[in-house]
Amino acid sequence: MRVTLCRAVLAGAIGLNLLLLYCAWRAPPPPCRSPPRGVPGVTVLLRDFEDFENDLAGTARSFASLPIPVLVAAETAPYPPVPLPAGVRMLLLRPTADQPPPLAHPEVHIRTRHVALVPDGTRAVPGLLERMRNALEEGDGDTRLVAAPVGSVPLRCLELQLEPRAWTARYSPGTPGVCQAVEGTAVLLLRTRDLFALPFPLARPVPTALFVQAAFRGWRLRVMPAAFPAARRPPISPHGRWKAHKLSETRWRQLMEDLGIKREVLADGQERWYGCGKETARCFGTVHARTPQYLLAGRWTPPCCLRALRETARHVAGVLEATGVRYWLEGGSLLGAARLGDIIPWDYDVDFGIYREDVSKCQWLAMAVAGEPVEDNEGFLWEKAAEGDFYRVHYSRSNRLHVDLWPFYPREGVMTKDTWLGHPQDVEFPESFLRPRVPMPFAGFTAMAPNNVRAFLELKFGPGAIENPEYPNPAVKRLGQD
Ligand code: ZN
Repeated sequence: MRVTLCRAVLAGAIGLNLLLLYCAWRAPPPPCRSPPRGVPGVTVLLRDFEDFENDLAGTARSFASLPIPVLVAAETAPYPPVPLPAGVRMLLLRPTADQPPPLAHPEVHIRTRHVALVPDGTRAVPGLLERMRNALEEGDGDTRLVAAPVGSVPLRCLELQLEPRAWTARYSPGTPGVCQAVEGTAVLLLRTRDLFALPFPLARPVPTALFVQAAFRGWRLRVMPAAFPAARRPPISPHGRWKAHKLSETRWRQLMEDLGIKREVLADGQERWYGCGKETARCFGTVHARTPQYLLAGRWTPPCCLRALRETARHVAGVLEATGVRYWLEGGSLLGAARLGDIIPWDYDVDFGIYREDVSKCQWLAMAVAGEPVEDNEGFLWEKAAEGDFYRVHYSRSNRLHVDLWPFYPREGVMTKDTWLGHPQDVEFPESFLRPRVPMPFAGFTAMAPNNVRAFLELKFGPGAIENPEYPNPAVKRLGQD
């Protein structure tokens, strides 16, 4: 057979194709591209400003004239529109169905290696951003944020401790050089890739959002003494101030929810609360298998809920005492009292036992027996439980944090009851434990408890119950499992 040139070329082409196919099949995946390092320099990011009475144009112009790249980030374009200087771009953060996700590729918007978050009304100082960047890069590896004041008031260095299990952020005066947060208006500079590796890179207010996320990661903050001047601005109108205040409250609340913080303890000892209250629903849903949702998330009872439970327990104890209903701390609440004089930090309700024969002495209980839930003079809601022969007092009609009241009656010296929910600790006990009942500190007041508490608790929970804490249902989740 003669091999024509044409045949030879064809055979060659087929062979080459097969080889290519084989190579493509065998070839290792392309190496992961490391995120782009960016070009040297700093981009100014304007994020914290209001749509009304802002200084956006002035602030942008001041930095853009240095020249430094300036980017304005906002949920939606400010309205009324702001005349931005040429070259200043706008990054709209609210996703729209017809566009790619706004932050999918931040490097498209910020090409420099560093970024400075600049408050509205700041004026540029030539060279200061570069000095901040140098301070960041010369610092030890833990320094990931640099702050410089805006205006004449120096920044106050704060320490920030996060207690995620207790949903708490705690500020205290910091030693200069080891701050985790600052008080005062500040320009904040960090590496662009650090910023966009955060779960909430552009949450507002920017400083708090950054300080908390940085504290979670052990990032250090360095404070520069040199300041940026603040613009001289016409005073904000009272209406503008009111509007700004309202918006900042909403924003603050949203940020705290995102960050999982329900209580802030400030450096001066004041506290701010963001969790549930009398008018809201409680912070967690219906409890299944005696394991509330927050336990599965690795957290303990939200501080607002503990506070509401303490308040309800104190109120109910007061009413029962005043009306002559004999009650005592039961179950996990007695265990908490014995351990720490308080509600167990992961408990979700409070349990009291009561003498069944005393129920009619308390008008609220008597009304609950009759059927309808009844709200008392202080807004607590008394009702007969749907699940059986016991009573519940809720913190309020909307917030269902509650104290359970378990009616027991004596039979031949043993306290018994008619409804058993099948919990291991739910057992009969000798009435002698209630003769007499004894006062015991609990949840900020003095409650009544069975005498010989240890024997009572070990009868119910088994030996060593006081010394060996465990979650309510270890089959679902054990203490120390996080
Ligand atoms: Zn709560």
